[in-house]
Amino acid sequence: MNPVALITGASRGIGRGIALELAKIGHDLVLNFASNAAAARQTAADCVAQAKEAGQKGQAEICQADVASAGDRQQLIDFTKKNFGRLDLLVNNAGVAPTVRADILEATEESFDRLISVNVKGPYFLTQLAARWMIEQRRTSVPPVSGTRKIITVSSISAYTASTNRGDYCVSKAALSMLTPLFAARLAEHGINVYEIRPGVIATDMTRPVKDKYDKLIAEGLTPIQRWGTPQDVGRAVAAIARDLLPFSTGEVINVDGGFHLRRL
Ligand code: NAP
Repeated sequence: MNPVALITGASRGIGRGIALELAKIGHDLVLNFASNAAAARQTAADCVAQAKEAGQKGQAEICQADVASAGDRQQLIDFTKKNFGRLDLLVNNAGVAPTVRADILEATEESFDRLISVNVKGPYFLTQLAARWMIEQRRTSVPPVSGTRKIITVSSISAYTASTNRGDYCVSKAALSMLTPLFAARLAEHGINVYEIRPGVIATDMTRPVKDKYDKLIAEGLTPIQRWGTPQDVGRAVAAIARDLLPFSTGEVINVDGGFHLRRL
């Protein structure tokens, strides 16, 4: 039997990269998206093909839901129950950048509210729902397919890096970073390990508008590993956790940033 993973924001970018890597190691997948159904369908088809190529059998179902909406979050869980009847791994990946990068002396409350809703409230309460169901599964003797159930949240180097032209994004990611220690401490007794993955500069639609800026910064030595990160880089870190390679670790932050976080002199 395959473990079942629910990935938010899996139609494109990092979420898609995570889905493809989990497909390769034999996971059934629920791929959430916000509005781009065509991209979600393509990712689902590519996951099934990747699984086959890797000698695995895997299913991938797509589910539209806005993680900022309580009703949609419940529907996402209900969809997973109906289609697979179990949940082994939740990946909180969906997230948004501000529509316009605005100086913190000018940025609007509307943008702040949007980012807090999608980037913080969404994953926080989806984790609550998923965790309750995981606890119930254990109580009703549905064992995890591998050693533990897991919750992984994708934050950002923006959790600790000040970008004054997108303060709302930085604040949302800093707040999101508290999710992992909180749920790790609460859920260990229920056999659920909780991790944060903290990507650096990753080539996706989100960073496309600032490609030239980051090309230059990377060439000038922004990161010790001197290249853009890829969705696959993040996907492989998620796959390492999903394969149970960190069974005695919980609450950990895993930097997938080419060494951006290192202080250098
Ligand atoms: P992206 O290319 O813009 O893709 C965003 C994904 O999230 C899409 O699948 C999108 O669905 C989905 N999404 C957006 N709002 C949603 C909502 N309200 N409910 C459900 N799904 C929603 O972004 P990305 O670069 O892959 O980023 C993924 C995550 O990594 C985000 O949390 C981001 O903050 C974080 N991150 C990114 C970078 C980077 O350099 N790219 C670095 C650090 C952290 P649709 O296709 O339907 O729009």
